[in-house]
Amino acid sequence: MNASLTPGQTKVEQVKLLIDGQWVESKTTEWRDVVNPATQQVLARVPFATSEEVDAAIAAGQRAFKTWRDTPIGARMRIMLKLQALIREHSKRIAVVLSAEQGKTIADAEGDIFRGLEVVEHACSIGSLQMGEFAENVAGGVDTYTLRQPIGVCAGITPFNFPAMIPLWMFPMAIVCGNTFVLKPSEQDPLSTMMLVELALEAGVPAGVLNVVHGGKQVVDALCTHTDIKAISFVGSTEVGTHVYNLAGQHGKRVQSMMGAKNHAVVLPDANRTQTLNALVGAGFGAAGQRCMATSVAVLVGKAREWLPELKALAANLKVNAGSEPGTDVGPLISKRAKERVLGLIESGIKEGATLELDGRDVSVPGYEQGNFVGPTLFSGVTTDMQIYTQEIFGPVLVVLEVDTLDEAIALVNRNPFGNGTGLFTQSGAAARKFQNEIDVGQVGINIPIPVPVPFFSFTGSRGSKLGDLGPYGKQVVQFYTQTKTVTSRWFDDDSVNDGVNTTISLR
Ligand code: NAD
Repeated sequence: MNASLTPGQTKVEQVKLLIDGQWVESKTTEWRDVVNPATQQVLARVPFATSEEVDAAIAAGQRAFKTWRDTPIGARMRIMLKLQALIREHSKRIAVVLSAEQGKTIADAEGDIFRGLEVVEHACSIGSLQMGEFAENVAGGVDTYTLRQPIGVCAGITPFNFPAMIPLWMFPMAIVCGNTFVLKPSEQDPLSTMMLVELALEAGVPAGVLNVVHGGKQVVDALCTHTDIKAISFVGSTEVGTHVYNLAGQHGKRVQSMMGAKNHAVVLPDANRTQTLNALVGAGFGAAGQRCMATSVAVLVGKAREWLPELKALAANLKVNAGSEPGTDVGPLISKRAKERVLGLIESGIKEGATLELDGRDVSVPGYEQGNFVGPTLFSGVTTDMQIYTQEIFGPVLVVLEVDTLDEAIALVNRNPFGNGTGLFTQSGAAARKFQNEIDVGQVGINIPIPVPVPFFSFTGSRGSKLGDLGPYGKQVVQFYTQTKTVTSRWFDDDSVNDGVNTTISLR
């Protein structure tokens, strides 16, 4: 198993499937390299599973569901308690692999794992989260109560940018509710995900309760259309997320699809200047801009326009290097293809007339000349018709727009089709209250640049960034992964009770 992979390892391992508690070598003929984006070193090869293998994983989930659904809630919860302890214990080891395959810094890789660990901690509260409701005497001697029952085999499809956090958004909450699960990790960086899956088995997740298949469109489509899959959680691009939502929906499944974004940070001139500029630069360029909640648009309001030179100077100071090197601020992009795409969008910004304040295109990193690096790039004079504004760039590119008033800023943000996250920087409580009330975006930060909610709340991106009603983690995901059954009951004290025949719909 590739969990022992270390940077510098020369043997290229084959990533396994997990079916019915067994690590399985795929029989596929289609493989893809997992590549270190800073060095191009091939770390492992990942299979694109065959349709028989996908069927076998779902069948294992279906068999395991028969007993897992009735496993006492305390037993499920104790597995999560063990899993959280194991993740904590192995976090640093996993972070090294995550950084090597994904490119982010070691500190950020640890953050990726930690934000997922928080969801596992939340799963340990399932005893109170999965409780039903009870009303006594809804009619004479009649009580009504609800059961929150698991729904069956669920599946999760995850993106490359958070190979620890996002799988941990999904399988712990799904299985702790009594479901079984088939996970399809990103084929670009599945190694750290597999280490977490290995820990889940060590924590006591029984055979067939958690299964893993690898692959691309074919595997995803098979999951979305299989009769025995009851729910699909997807996180990834808008294009694929819309396809998954439609396909799985046509096949009668519950679907939650978290997709692309364009997150605006609105800066009022009364904001704490230093803290705000730090926040913009950290959230704009951290993880090389490859976060769905990255700040990708800065809206400078009124006199905050004058802060542009300072913003530029701060961004120019960031250190671009491999994620494994100490002191790195901005690591490489995930692939050469991703880099080409970002460079193309920067070109489009120049052609469409934006001012390139800071140009990260020709960055060179000694010792890592083959890395997919793009340095911090800053555009001013951006208008809403330019591609650098209309498209999710998913790279270290921050675009700056200017408006005169808070009302104009709110209207600008609300006109953008995405609704994942936004932020307001101000010292005015009244402005903040107006913003949180009028802004049409699902997650709002007030002087907080990346307002990803902690797991006792839910992730609530909205509009073009999400399809489906219920978000990951928090109370919403318990609703997503369970079916409410409502029981209305009456018991008789003795055989002499006789209310007569009731031909109406009323309870008496
Ligand atoms: P992606 O859509 O390319 O891939 C996501 C998953 O879909 C992967 O597992 C991939 O194998 C699979 N896939 C790829 N092409 C497919 C196809 N044609 N048909 C079916 N499945 C396919 O996304 P990515 O590049 O891995 O991740 C980056 C994207 O994810 C960005 O758009 C980012 O905003 C988004 N994202 C959103 C959130 C959120 O919560 N809203 C969180 C993280 C990432």
